[in-house]
Amino acid sequence: MMNTSSLRHLDRNHLLRDFSALVDRERRDTATLLAYIAEIDRRKLYLEHACPSMFAFCTTRFHMSGAMAAKRIRAGRAAYAFPCIFDMVACGELHLSGVHQLAAHLTEDNHKVVLKRAKHKSMREIERLIAELSPKPDVPASIRALPIRKTEDRLPVETAPASAPSAQPSRALPSSATPPSRAVPLSPRRYKLQVTIGEETREKLSELQDLLSHQIPDGDPAKIVERALDALLTETKKRKAALTNRPHRAQKKSGSKTRAIPAQARREVFERDEGRCAFVDTEGRRCSSTWQVEFHHRIPYARGGTHDIDNIELRCRAHNQYEAELEYGALFMETRRHSRSAHGRSG
Ligand SMILES: [Zn+2]
Repeated sequence: MMNTSSLRHLDRNHLLRDFSALVDRERRDTATLLAYIAEIDRRKLYLEHACPSMFAFCTTRFHMSGAMAAKRIRAGRAAYAFPCIFDMVACGELHLSGVHQLAAHLTEDNHKVVLKRAKHKSMREIERLIAELSPKPDVPASIRALPIRKTEDRLPVETAPASAPSAQPSRALPSSATPPSRAVPLSPRRYKLQVTIGEETREKLSELQDLLSHQIPDGDPAKIVERALDALLTETKKRKAALTNRPHRAQKKSGSKTRAIPAQARREVFERDEGRCAFVDTEGRRCSSTWQVEFHHRIPYARGGTHDIDNIELRCRAHNQYEAELEYGALFMETRRHSRSAHGRSG
């Protein structure tokens, strides 16, 4: 293992020569890593390892920080689209942060010119280049509504202006430019949540402050948000677990077997799987994503699978699609085999 005491006695020339070699090596390794990330991402190999996204794969399986993973994945995708980026990163002409920032602004038409201009540029210079490529309108100062501190005003909420629209919101890859409203940890178990609300929402909050004024005399919005979240969670879980199954009208003949999973089974499965994706990889690791969770038949309904709760599990969106594709692939191969043997017989 490396420690600084082993370097303490190294002569300066040696130290600087090694440093230079290490920087070169790191750049080449980074470019190679981007290529691997792009290819794994393209093949969606994370799915079979019980991860719903490349981002989850990097953070949970390889313990990268979210920022580190997001930066490499976005850069990897950009380099996949414009392969000269790999070379520029490998020889140190473009740093990873630069690729990450530029990624959303590169097109087939502009990438050659833009990348050439970004060569050996600092972050600040790249930001200037981006501002030139896609200028944002000046922030109109008049939109900011100052917090009202009147005594009769019961809303101790700071009314902030809406943030600029962020670059394509992606669950897997949070945008670095303008983070959406989110909870920021303050001290342990305390979070700051800042949101922009419209007039109607503000009125609803006001109404709730009045209605709940016995239980919450100070009208603290945080307490009301907590109550509102509790109520919405209960309602959503109830709906998710038992009521919405996109019923197929055509199959809703009375008494006939229907594709819709009975409410009781839905409740039991939802509870058993704790509202999380139950996809398990070959090493026994479970996905557990809660993103767009759906009910999944282990033996497909179309192949005679039942609504027995042992045949139903929850799946996140990514794993539901993944298994549907596997199933489709298997069916496709089967029909091909059938048609081939049919031809064999006739011929
Ligand atoms: Zn999943």
